[in-house]
Amino acid sequence: MKSASATTAPNSLNRVFLGIGGNLGDRLGNLRRAIELIGERIGRIEKGSSIYLSEPWGFKHAKYFTNIVAEIYTTFSADEVLTKAFEIEAELKRTRSGNGYEGRTMDIDILFFNNEIVNTERLVVPHPHICQRLFVLLPMAEIEPNFVHPQNGKTMLELSEICTDNGKIKKISSN
Ligand code: AMP
Repeated sequence: MKSASATTAPNSLNRVFLGIGGNLGDRLGNLRRAIELIGERIGRIEKGSSIYLSEPWGFKHAKYFTNIVAEIYTTFSADEVLTKAFEIEAELKRTRSGNGYEGRTMDIDILFFNNEIVNTERLVVPHPHICQRLFVLLPMAEIEPNFVHPQNGKTMLELSEICTDNGKIKKISSN
């Protein structure tokens, strides 16, 4: 088991990794707009991955998702970041039927928040499905291959190599 990554955000800013993606509407335009709004409202974007086109995970849908991962430095708490992510999703016309996994214009997940473990009614961090999702692990391994998952001690590169997700995925742009 590796020790947690030595990298910390400057001036006690929080280092947060967001998973950003959607499969409805103007997928690339929505990604671009989400990134702009995240930069304006959540914090400085330190790194962004390439864009990955991926098969819907956990449900069938004709439209594949476009996904990226971004590393942000923010003054906000994890809970505040979630509230702002919800606002950005709503602005990008995200609707929820409440019937589980479904197509969506925009989904913003908090993947990691520093090396913290959060478990509240509203928020679970690290995001519970990271290790099962190549559309998260491949872009994470691209931007921070040595970042260590605080719960299982494995790096993003290691997790991407042992992940058994067999959904189709391909990189469609470089960052
Ligand atoms: P979704 O419909 O996939 O966007 O899921 C959003 C729901 O998951 C919301 O009710 C959030 O409060 C909850 N949630 C729990 N943990 C997280 C997380 N790490 N990132 C984003 N949403 C989360």
